[in-house]
Amino acid sequence: MTEQRVNDAEVTWLDPDTAQLRQPKASHWEAPFLYLLFGRERSLLIDTGATTDETVFPLRTTVERLTSEWLRRNPAVFVRPYPLVVAHSHAHGDHIAGDALLRGRPGTTVVGTSPAEVIGFFGFHSWPDETVEFDLGRRVVDVIGGPGHEPSAVVFFDRRTGILFTGDTVLPARLYVRDLPQFRATIERLIRFRDDPTAPVRELRGAHIEMSNDPGVDYPAGTVDQPDEAPLPLRPRILDRVLAAVDELRGMPGERVVRRRFVVVVDR
Ligand SMILES: [Zn+2]
Repeated sequence: MTEQRVNDAEVTWLDPDTAQLRQPKASHWEAPFLYLLFGRERSLLIDTGATTDETVFPLRTTVERLTSEWLRRNPAVFVRPYPLVVAHSHAHGDHIAGDALLRGRPGTTVVGTSPAEVIGFFGFHSWPDETVEFDLGRRVVDVIGGPGHEPSAVVFFDRRTGILFTGDTVLPARLYVRDLPQFRATIERLIRFRDDPTAPVRELRGAHIEMSNDPGVDYPAGTVDQPDEAPLPLRPRILDRVLAAVDELRGMPGERVVRRRFVVVVDR
């Protein structure tokens, strides 16, 4: 048995091929969630956390451990080194800081973080109004353009689990709207995607929890101890509520619209 250290990732297997990692609050108050999806030909890591130091948050060690564990359970997958693609929900520092820890890892491709690099890597032709497929090998992930919180933001939909990985765009937290028209268009795009019966969305999982279990009450930025956190997953119908809340905004800096499970904030 290995000793659990305070800064180790909090790992939850959402299904046998999908690991959710949370960077613990003890290593950084943002405590972002990361996701590692395994396919027959490659794995996809969504986000790399808020820390560039392996001794503060052992991202690379965790990725190695989970990958070895999955490969042991899937001995028919014999490509070595088993490829890993590192992509991002968006380019803010608390989601990309760990890139440096994985760059240079054998078989690893780290996708760039500018809009042009994201568009080029996934092959968008009409960004952001397009959904493109990214195949992990018998496991297709849809990549949906998602600017508004940040210009290079994307949302990943995993057809296997029905999870929409919504980054900092929709989550039980403060939804920081940097570009209001783009943010609104992204929420509409996600609603259209959700309403397409060929892509059944089961739940949304974002990148942080900032709401408490008290409806409409958020933990202030910088909070390290969140004993009464709201649950991370959100139901697909939350998207309608986000759109309605966005439509109440007049676009003034710092303006907030509070809902039970999230707070929309104009951030510019
Ligand atoms: Zn962000």
